[in-house]
Amino acid sequence: MKTYLGCIADDFTGATDLAGLLARSGFPVALRIGVPSEPPKDPAPFEVVALKCRTAPVQDAVTECLAALEWLRSAGAERFFWKYCSTFDSTPEGNIGPVAEALMSELGTDQTIYCPAFPENGRAIFMGNLFVGRQPLAESPMKDHPLTPMRDSNLMRLLEPQVSKKVGLADRLAVAQGADVLRAELAVLKSEGIAHVVVDAVANSDLEIIADACRDMPLMTGGSAVAMPLPALYVAEGTLPVAQSVDAIADLSKSSVILSGSCSAMTNAQVAAYQRTGAPSFRLDPRDLALSGTQAMLEWLEKQDLNKAPLIYATADPETVRDAQQELGRARAGELVERALADCAVAARDAGARRIVVAGGETSGAVTQALGVTRLDIGQEIAPGVPWTFCTSDRHRLALTLKSGNFGAESFFSDALESL
Ligand code: ADP
Repeated sequence: MKTYLGCIADDFTGATDLAGLLARSGFPVALRIGVPSEPPKDPAPFEVVALKCRTAPVQDAVTECLAALEWLRSAGAERFFWKYCSTFDSTPEGNIGPVAEALMSELGTDQTIYCPAFPENGRAIFMGNLFVGRQPLAESPMKDHPLTPMRDSNLMRLLEPQVSKKVGLADRLAVAQGADVLRAELAVLKSEGIAHVVVDAVANSDLEIIADACRDMPLMTGGSAVAMPLPALYVAEGTLPVAQSVDAIADLSKSSVILSGSCSAMTNAQVAAYQRTGAPSFRLDPRDLALSGTQAMLEWLEKQDLNKAPLIYATADPETVRDAQQELGRARAGELVERALADCAVAARDAGARRIVVAGGETSGAVTQALGVTRLDIGQEIAPGVPWTFCTSDRHRLALTLKSGNFGAESFFSDALESL
């Protein structure tokens, strides 16, 4: 199998989100954690390379994205998607525009689109202005983001300082008339030398039209939602053979473990809800870890029946977290917890756990790294944006789900186990 669409995402949770939406098509989707060091072996029809370059220095982001492009090309891809956040997280320096221009130049194409709209999640674009729910982007909480404060809602104005070529708009009036009209509109803009086209979208039906009009572009850019219609369009045009099935989770042993390092409000509620089911749990405190290491945790884990899906958590309320951070420093407290949960994942795998639930973005990074996982095959969705994934760790096939902070319902941990 070769790759039909090669995607590059500027962060891990964004990559998971995109991979999950593409997997709704029923086609195999593989998520790579970083640019693989080996040439593609058995590539999936949809490949997503997860990078961590949203706020990296521009040149580093460009270099990494070009390396991802090269790898995806060697997997057979001829069409590419540059995925960034649906709130267009970037600064006047980049990295959305500079990466897009570098990819365009490498692909020898002189036009691409920008469509971060995600109607299901309340992100809409009208007359080039991005809305978060009913608020313009610049009035939404994104105006105070610590790394990428968004102080303008107009995507053309946000993009202009980031690129060297001309920026334009294909507005809703064109989109509403269907794919042929939009295609013609893009051609007119191209004849005027407009390389970067912001495209309006307020509803899912707009995204279908946009994806249809742009599916032949070597490069599309946007949030995850505008990529979702692509698999079906490739089938309809006859490029993509009909779906084959992905791994079935039922083939894996039921031995499970839940590891929670997120301290978000939702994860606190999820830990409490899981404890109310009577499941065994062990609380980690970074201060204990600093004093006496992971011995107690590993001994506890060893005594557990993994069929009961024990929970090990550092999840705590803001006050407890603050106390630990004051004592140890924020970075050290975080590292101690991440390290401990990563050790726990390895110990659980070695003890036979084949289904591992992880809560926390950074925590997930630490766990996948310790497990030596570089490829995740996307399976069924547990909650919007959180799929089960399959991977190989030390020659064992594992099911892994990686949930970032606020995702999932209160019953997420039970939902994950029950959906098996
Ligand atoms: P989220 O997805 O909710 O942001 P992350 O795993 O990305 O979760 O981040 C949570 C961070 O908080 C991690 O670095 C984790 O190690 C740290 N952490 C977890 N529990 C505690 C605690 N009790 N005290 C201090 N830091 C903690």
